[in-house]
Amino acid sequence: METSARVSERHAVVIGGSIAGLLAARVLADHAERVTLVERDRPLAAGEPRAGVPQDRHLHVLLEGGQSALESLLPGVARELEEQGSPRVGIPRDVLQWQGGGWLRRSANTSSYFTGHRPRLERLVRTRVLADPRIELLESTEAVGLEGDTARVRGVLLRRRGSSARRETRALAADLVVDASGRGSKAAAWMATLGAEPPHEDVIDTGLAYATRIYRHRSADDVADCLGYYLVPDGTQPYGGVIMPIEDGRHLVTFSGLRDDQPPVDEDEFEKYARRLPHPVLAEWLAGAEPLSPVYGFRNTANVRRRYDLPGRRPAGFLAVGDALCTFNPIYGQGMSVAAFCAVALRDALAHPRRTPSTRRVQRALLAASTQAWTICAGADKAMPGATGNALGSTAADRLAGWYLQRVQDRSKADPVVGAAFRGVLALDKPLTALFAPAVLRAALFDRVREGPSEPPLAPEDAAPVAP
Ligand SMILES: Cc1cc2nc3c(=O)[nH]c(=O)nc-3n(C[C@H](O)[C@H](O)[C@H](O)COP(=O)(O)OP(=O)(O)OC[C@H]3O[C@@H](n4cnc5c(N)ncnc54)[C@H](O)[C@@H]3O)c2cc1C
Repeated sequence: METSARVSERHAVVIGGSIAGLLAARVLADHAERVTLVERDRPLAAGEPRAGVPQDRHLHVLLEGGQSALESLLPGVARELEEQGSPRVGIPRDVLQWQGGGWLRRSANTSSYFTGHRPRLERLVRTRVLADPRIELLESTEAVGLEGDTARVRGVLLRRRGSSARRETRALAADLVVDASGRGSKAAAWMATLGAEPPHEDVIDTGLAYATRIYRHRSADDVADCLGYYLVPDGTQPYGGVIMPIEDGRHLVTFSGLRDDQPPVDEDEFEKYARRLPHPVLAEWLAGAEPLSPVYGFRNTANVRRRYDLPGRRPAGFLAVGDALCTFNPIYGQGMSVAAFCAVALRDALAHPRRTPSTRRVQRALLAASTQAWTICAGADKAMPGATGNALGSTAADRLAGWYLQRVQDRSKADPVVGAAFRGVLALDKPLTALFAPAVLRAALFDRVREGPSEPPLAPEDAAPVAP
């Protein structure tokens, strides 16, 4: 069986022209003669939300780990983000964060994330990637199937958007097909049509839903001395609330709630939801702000990972990246970072000038790129009340790890060393092993928990932001 994923001097097709697809195309352009990016959406108004990415309207933070990966793929992109006005928010000083019964101490920033509107980030990435003449974008074009057999994928079946006639379907031959079509990927069904085995799916679903609205605060000073607010839901209280700056002096306000208690998309009810949060700080902020948009909801937030890496009768010449491979509960803000990690993993897997990696080997590297993010989501979401799915089981080792992580998290609220390690891991900037560094281990095992303040703390003057 031909398993080669080599694309040198050949044609690669990427399905989905969002962040994961664009970044994969960027990498493949260095190995294939040409890359075709197939995108279902119509030509886009610059930087505006679009139908194919309904999550566009919701808050998107680009974590520190994702920033580094993106920068290594598109050098200078962080500077360009800043130049286009995307706010960069430091943690823990710049954000008032409530978690596990109290506020986090606002010591010096050890991490930061970009909080600008997602469509603007995507526009920037698209402009950079499509400047490469080896990459062609087919817009208003939908992939509706794969060409090939159980041994090898040899292309994709395409149709103009909106056309349902079977005769209007055409085949586009390819030596490698990369699925970057997001959370709703149909590739598993397409595999089955070829007679191949669809991938096993791991699923954990908390039933979390988002409701988001854009606001402008009437007084520029009224965000106190912080840049944003984050009230984190956990096993003890299910309501989440976030206020973060986006471009042009506006803020995104997002509420989250679990199954059967979702935040309202009704404009009259939206602000009332703030009263359910464990502190009135968001309700007080909203009292001084005016809405600039309708309320947008989002419900399908299950963690799902598709195990193309596992043994099975599946064809060579097909890879999945980004949300099509592994999609997360958005509350952890990881998806765009993992899309960038996938592109870096693809680049590294194809880097050897002579050795041709097998499709399975590359797919294993892509899955590995999402493993830390999955471990974080899965560990936390299994413990959420009412979580469903086929991956909820835990071993004795999982329970021990959960016990230890809870001790780390409890101490991260007031201990700056533990806090820096914990935040670095959540930001996908440090490996999970950072939580077992001697100082963290000692504090987690022997120090008593120091609770954070019960009221939102002012930033101490000596906690000036530090470069991450
Ligand atoms: C509510 C919400 C909030 C989120 N917040 C964050 C956050 O704070 N930080 C973060 O990093 N991530 C966040 N994410 C995740 C993030 O949106 C994704 O991980 C990110 O967009 C990368 O996804 P992607 O490129 O793999 O897929 P998507 O962005 O979903 O794009 C898929 C693309 O494929 C196209 N497409 C689909 N099917 C076809 C087809 N058959 N043919 C052709 N084209 C097709 C679509 O039009 C679309 O352009 C959030 C997600 C949600 C739902």
